[in-house]
Amino acid sequence: MSTMQKTNGGLDPALENRDENTLTEAPFDLLALSRRIINGGEMTREEADACFRLRGDAVYDLMYAANRVRRHFHGNKVTFCSILASKFGRCSEDCKFCAQSSFYNTGIEPHSMMEGEEVEKATEFARENGASAFGIVNSGRGPSQREWPKIMEAVQAMKKVDGICHCATLGTLSPEQARDLKEAGVRRINHNLETSERHYAKIVTTHTWQDRVKTLKLAQEVGLETCSGGIFGMGETVEDRVDLAFSLKALNPDVVPLNFLHPIAGTPLAHLKPLEPLVILGIIATIRMILPKQDLKVAGGREKNLRDMQSWGFYAGATSGLIGNYLSTYGRANSEDLQMIRDLGLTWDDDRVGGGDPDAVPAETIGGGAARANGSFSLPVLAGN
Ligand code: SF4
Repeated sequence: MSTMQKTNGGLDPALENRDENTLTEAPFDLLALSRRIINGGEMTREEADACFRLRGDAVYDLMYAANRVRRHFHGNKVTFCSILASKFGRCSEDCKFCAQSSFYNTGIEPHSMMEGEEVEKATEFARENGASAFGIVNSGRGPSQREWPKIMEAVQAMKKVDGICHCATLGTLSPEQARDLKEAGVRRINHNLETSERHYAKIVTTHTWQDRVKTLKLAQEVGLETCSGGIFGMGETVEDRVDLAFSLKALNPDVVPLNFLHPIAGTPLAHLKPLEPLVILGIIATIRMILPKQDLKVAGGREKNLRDMQSWGFYAGATSGLIGNYLSTYGRANSEDLQMIRDLGLTWDDDRVGGGDPDAVPAETIGGGAARANGSFSLPVLAGN
């Protein structure tokens, strides 16, 4: 796409984050619900709808219930993963939340696929600093035939580093590409549903939600683990949140990343008011009750949107987070995240690191050129592809 075609945002005023029909008290016993889930029962769509609407003190009651579910199924272990924007920007797709789309002027500095040596270095850095999984993230609808050898080279580079789960976010995959990845030793692919099928059409027009489901299913068919979640705060309704959560339940991914939109200047969603921390915590807690056994990862927007309340994400039921930089912004120092976990009385699933290097401020190694482009915008991590 040429620069001439860029829309410079073209704000979409039809999309707004509205607080619809909120509840200050749950219309059922949340503790009884948590007991039911612990005993193998399931949350209904009606219960999920009510939980997504809770506000104020009721969110704390919901978190208490969700924390019981988290503790029962996951104990006191949490995990961290890291990502590398191995190919950044110049994307042919029009995802309205994304800094990397060629449709919008967001001021990013694109770069083409990184060399194997850089990928290996970033994988090593991630492992040494507390990550139990590491993934390369490429912009674009999906890998072209021309870039496939380079992707395989990056996978081989990641594989040189043992003791870490090797992941990839590459967009839409063909059955042959999924098989190649599995054979090359990739353990897991990330491919988010992003939002409900209904709302997706308002956010992306260059490919469909069903395309995404197809890629996830074929990945599962060849034996790849899947990581799939969504982005909240893109003007979706409570019904959209319920639909997304139950679609994820049906797909049964191994990991579910939850991103919270930090609006990016230049994109059509730049005008959206970010979700309040208690709304975000209510979303995490509700999804924990819907997906009791999944590894629930608080990903993009953790620092930006939860601010001082980010440690509450684990009390709300999260079992995982991103460590290091995001795709296009800096994360905080890994030592701060690891200290937060210690302070919460939790442990992270990595006995190779003795607490993380307190001086390790993730800068250019993790996040690569994307994060170093500038700090003036933020992209929901793992939101793409
Ligand atoms: S989310 Fe992925 S596919 Fe969509 S514009 Fe961004 S990089 Fe491209």
